[in-house]
Amino acid sequence: MAMNMIRQSLKSFLLAELVTGMALTLRYMFRRKVTLNYPYEKGPLSPRFRGEHALRRYANGEERCISCKLCEAICPAQAITIEGEPRDDGSRRTTRYDIDMTKCIYCGFCEEACPVDAIVEGPNFEYATETREELLYNKDKLLANGERWETEIAARLTADAPYR
Ligand code: SF4
Ligand code: SF4
Repeated sequence: MAMNMIRQSLKSFLLAELVTGMALTLRYMFRRKVTLNYPYEKGPLSPRFRGEHALRRYANGEERCISCKLCEAICPAQAITIEGEPRDDGSRRTTRYDIDMTKCIYCGFCEEACPVDAIVEGPNFEYATETREELLYNKDKLLANGERWETEIAARLTADAPYR
């Protein structure tokens, strides 16, 4: 009992815990860092990463989406709403394409179902908003996403293609 008290007092007097802690800090200071300085540094993303949705266009600027509504039908969260009609040239296109991102569970089924690679989940994961309304995406927003991320999306689809 007395020995224990002496040992504890000596430890406190010599700041043993502090020195042990500082030694540990010093040891890790010279090791390779495992943390990232986000947002200035970012980790690698898998080609199968499922981020923010985007609607793609063909290289000539034409919308890929043919308003078949397969994505709307398969969406388990019923987050997609589509309306479409034929154009004068006979092709069928959407007049409305909405995704309620607050309902979406990022399952990727919409992308899997799409026969023309129109709706995809891109690499963007930095789209936090302050209001719920900002997460109600319409066709313009989705097409703008497609234009913004097309290079990355095309690269990821190419990288994943051999495994599908
Ligand atoms: S990722 Fe899944 S839940 Fe989200 S819109 Fe597509 S099908 Fe619906
Ligand atoms: S995004 Fe694809 S699956 Fe959905 S309506 Fe358009 S073509 Fe069909």
